[in-house]
Amino acid sequence: MTEDLVIGIDVGGTNMRSALVDPRGRIVLQSRTATGAWLEGRETARRLIEECRSLRLAASGFGAAVRAAGLGVAGRIDPREGRVVFSPNLPRMNGYPLAAELRTALDLPVVMLNDADCFGIGESRLGAGRSIPNWVGLTLGTGVGGCLVLDNHLWTGDNLGFAGEIGHMIVVPGGRPCACGARGCLEAYASGRALVEGFLEAAATGAPVAGIEQRPLEPAKVAARDVHRLALQGDPLAREVFRRMGWAIGLALSNCFTVLGVRHAVIGGGVSAGWDQFEGALVVSLAEHATMFEAADAVIRRGVLGDDAAPLGAALAAWRQLGHGA
Ligand SMILES: [Zn+2]
Repeated sequence: MTEDLVIGIDVGGTNMRSALVDPRGRIVLQSRTATGAWLEGRETARRLIEECRSLRLAASGFGAAVRAAGLGVAGRIDPREGRVVFSPNLPRMNGYPLAAELRTALDLPVVMLNDADCFGIGESRLGAGRSIPNWVGLTLGTGVGGCLVLDNHLWTGDNLGFAGEIGHMIVVPGGRPCACGARGCLEAYASGRALVEGFLEAAATGAPVAGIEQRPLEPAKVAARDVHRLALQGDPLAREVFRRMGWAIGLALSNCFTVLGVRHAVIGGGVSAGWDQFEGALVVSLAEHATMFEAADAVIRRGVLGDDAAPLGAALAAWRQLGHGA
């Protein structure tokens, strides 16, 4: 008997992570391809199609058939037309019919969702949110994604193509510019980009750029993980930008908890690797801004699926479209 599989893909600003996933949510095979925020939509689509074809070939190699594909993309999505409406961190994808092209090229059902929503589905079904009916999700990466799981289901609101965009909640009116065009969004304080920019700006005001390493940093090459490394080594500027990040997340989560009447949050994404550097400030800020809820009742967890959360969630969404799963 031929085994049925689906493809789950997370299209990020740096990499495209794809996986062949069985109906129980197990990853059979996975791969990673370089993308880039500078790539034209057409080139991203070409790499995506190529990737899906090679996964399909691999599946047929061990007697399995691919039945559908799920696609997670950062930004506002038009699920009916299979189009990326607006992506602050993949600006060249704006307006691009990525899912529609994939559907035509592969002759498969393709479902496209926001990448943080994929994280929400993945962690809710198979990860840190498994036993929690209501929670707020945050993904810390190049940008900050958000999702809401309410009554065990991903909240999609009025199906406007976005929901739970906590990264674009204003935490400092008139504050730092955000990739979305607004000012003072959570993303402008809690993303990987915000960490790097905040650190370099602080360093440029006269503080030692090299931190305790005494080696000059090349601004264009600094990544969030470098800021984390410096923070671990005790660099006061690096520690300060992480503290600011924790403060902003605590404020945003406090607002979410107050509005929704929920007390759980799950935080994932590559930049959550800096957890030890921002958790303390997050907890203090959450308590400072708690009004209706008791800060001691709040539970903030780290995601457990790591980089697999979004491709798994995208695959589970594809299975759901085929009639498997809730
Ligand atoms: Zn924003």
